[in-house]
Amino acid sequence: MRLELNIANKNGWLSQKTPIIISGPCSVESEDQVLQTAKEITKSNNVSILRGGIWKPRTRPNSFEGVGVEGLKWLKNAGNEVCLPVATEVANAEHVEACLKNGIDVLWIGARTTVNPFSIQEIADALKGVDIPVFVKNPITPDINLWVGALERINAAGIDKLAAIHRGFSSFDKSSYRNAPMWEIPIELKLMCPDLPLFCDPSHIAGDKDLIAYVSQKALDLDMEGLMLESHTNPLAAKSDAKQQLTPSELEGLFGQLILREKDAGSEDFINKLEQLRTVIDELDEELINKFSSRMAIIEKIGEYKSQNNVTILQLERWEKILANRSFLAEKVGLSDDFIKKMLDIIHQESIRIQTKVMNK
Ligand code: PEP
Ligand code: MN
Repeated sequence: MRLELNIANKNGWLSQKTPIIISGPCSVESEDQVLQTAKEITKSNNVSILRGGIWKPRTRPNSFEGVGVEGLKWLKNAGNEVCLPVATEVANAEHVEACLKNGIDVLWIGARTTVNPFSIQEIADALKGVDIPVFVKNPITPDINLWVGALERINAAGIDKLAAIHRGFSSFDKSSYRNAPMWEIPIELKLMCPDLPLFCDPSHIAGDKDLIAYVSQKALDLDMEGLMLESHTNPLAAKSDAKQQLTPSELEGLFGQLILREKDAGSEDFINKLEQLRTVIDELDEELINKFSSRMAIIEKIGEYKSQNNVTILQLERWEKILANRSFLAEKVGLSDDFIKKMLDIIHQESIRIQTKVMNK
């Protein structure tokens, strides 16, 4: 599906630096904290937008919920000191109005707000007739339609300086990430709307500073526009997200480490070689599709046979044997167990669907 958004040309409103870095503290805590952070993270000239949370959507009550409206002035002053536009999170119409009154340059909508169309519509209504860039984070649930819906509502209010931020998704699965990246979702969004600038927020995906470089590099390798990275002069004393904030020197170290790759290498030799390899991939994919088709034709026969003999579709022992045997085969040829399990799951679901259809004929 193609997503029809009216997006202003990014060269007109986004920094031309690549990648575009949005950085600053998770929360604005005091006038001094945001000013010092701003000064230190801008020494090397890599940051394009200063961020700072003013109203913090905390999962549990009795946590630090942000300094509120008085912090807007501190954030704006810090931005003025280092000559950078400033950005903060808005979750309702009151936040939008306070930001506009205090000269905040960029707004973002947080993951806990994107899930709620009522809140998004309230923000959109407050933005009617206003010309300000708005960044929309993905919803906490892995539902691309909520993300798309939020972008559409904000865009319909007349905001054409629009961008998306991928910050990962809540998940019950144990993993090393705070929020599972599920990279396929931002890639799908890119496919739906190639003109929409797409950023990554490695801080909230990683949840821990040790993983930030890895996530940042991956985002750049997926050709994202830029990164939102939380930074703090003293992360250990931070009032929110202490584990994931980088010190200004760690941020600096990260910039030194990131590898920026080109969209293509330009040379004819590169293009020819890539084309050759892609031709092989095209052939292999065709073979795979034909094999799947043959496999499903047999499945249909199995379904008919089970139906004639009044036997259940699911045969647990057979399924267990398949899983064990295919894992073994995959390991022998160096394919990851996770990949083969996911692939078998999809094949199995389709096999069950086909057999169900046959049985209900
Ligand atoms: C944040 O950026 O500090 C924040 C609360 O982000 P998210 O909405 O991604 O949780
Ligand atoms: Mn945060």
